[in-house]
Amino acid sequence: MHFTELGLSADILRAVTEQGYDTPTPIQAQAIPLVLEGRDLMAAAQTGTGKTAGFTLPILQLLAQDTNLSLKRFKPRALVLVPTRELAIQVQQSVFTYGKHVKLRTAAIYGGVAIGPQTKLLKAGVDIVVATPGRLLDHVTQRNIDLSGIEILVLDEADRMLDMGFINDIRKVLSLLPKKKQSLLFSATFSDEIRALATGLLRDPVSVEVARRNAPAEAVAQCVYRVDRERKRDLLVRLITDNNWHQVLVFTRTKHGADALAERLCKARISAAALHGNKSQGQRIRALDDFKKLKINVLVATDIAARGIDIDELPHVVNYELPSVPEDYVHRIGRTGRAGASGEATSLVCIDEHKLLRDIERVLKREIEKRVLPGFEPDPKIKAEPIQKPRVSSGARNVAPARAAAPARAAGKPPARGKAHASAGGHHFGSRHR
Ligand code: AMP
Repeated sequence: MHFTELGLSADILRAVTEQGYDTPTPIQAQAIPLVLEGRDLMAAAQTGTGKTAGFTLPILQLLAQDTNLSLKRFKPRALVLVPTRELAIQVQQSVFTYGKHVKLRTAAIYGGVAIGPQTKLLKAGVDIVVATPGRLLDHVTQRNIDLSGIEILVLDEADRMLDMGFINDIRKVLSLLPKKKQSLLFSATFSDEIRALATGLLRDPVSVEVARRNAPAEAVAQCVYRVDRERKRDLLVRLITDNNWHQVLVFTRTKHGADALAERLCKARISAAALHGNKSQGQRIRALDDFKKLKINVLVATDIAARGIDIDELPHVVNYELPSVPEDYVHRIGRTGRAGASGEATSLVCIDEHKLLRDIERVLKREIEKRVLPGFEPDPKIKAEPIQKPRVSSGARNVAPARAAAPARAAGKPPARGKAHASAGGHHFGSRHR
């Protein structure tokens, strides 16, 4: 199938072609014609499936073809609710990219940054708002935004929004929208809570499903290097240097571990930064941006920090330590081999982690190829030690944003689980390694 067969207009197709895409991904092929028809959608699709373009492209077209714009000049017409700042920025980027040849204005609204510039943008008038629920409600309270003109609503990564305790905020936002609108719900999983949300929201929805959960992209080549605990760092340096890997996302289990590894890589003259829950918004954005632009070659991240990171054709993911939850392995390696690109996922596994590896293979329903690099053979005399769990802070597995925890607290529930929050970044620069 070709993009030209989906009913998209010339202006939108031009932007798609400029991105170098000619074949829609399965979610795009299914969703785009349905959204253009005005149908409500309940879509099971994870990050990496091309879902963002799946809703962005038809929404841009629907808004751009409406000629009665002058009446609606200051009220936004489409709202995309997302769980994290990272996703807000990414979706806004897609709107810019695919909306290059149509005249529509967009704002990304998220917490953790000053509210003033966002207020200015909203007051100047925007057509599409991409927002995290908490900050959006702050703007509603301050009367910076009027949601009564919303024609299309997208709930993106709905399961993560619920995981993060946003349900009350979402319900509040929904109550401010017109009854008559088109609604699209995207979620990787469909719990009873999501179904309940969908039932109240969607009118005669079409269900669209593409990727099964726990099914890693076919295009990802996976392998395990057996190595001793204390020699992992040296092995990683060797793998990066010998293979000339230039863009590697490395996962560690703890924030402290991420910092320590990034520092040690820099000492080995490999440029690296750490991305985790204790860094400021500015540091996080800079670290991600530098990594995307190849100004740094290695990003060392914790699971929570890396959720939702979208990097075009990321070639290498390394599990410096295996995750304690097997499903996180699937999420981790899903960062590579996206949308048809090939990728490599390498895990460094010491004797402590053999059980974790077996659990992961059980979830994958297959064995992962094992390798030993000459010079790094495991010492059979070394005994397994218990694995240290990441330290839990304030009831969450990692630092959740203030806004994420607030609604749950207000509702008398435990604070939002940090599980789904993408977070933080920090810089440790060494010389550039290419
Ligand atoms: P998403 O699932 O929306 O996070 O998208 C995953 C990645 O796939 C993004 O980096 C997109 O730029 C890329 N992508 C989206 N649509 C296509 C397509 N039709 N062909 C190739 N890559 C795509």
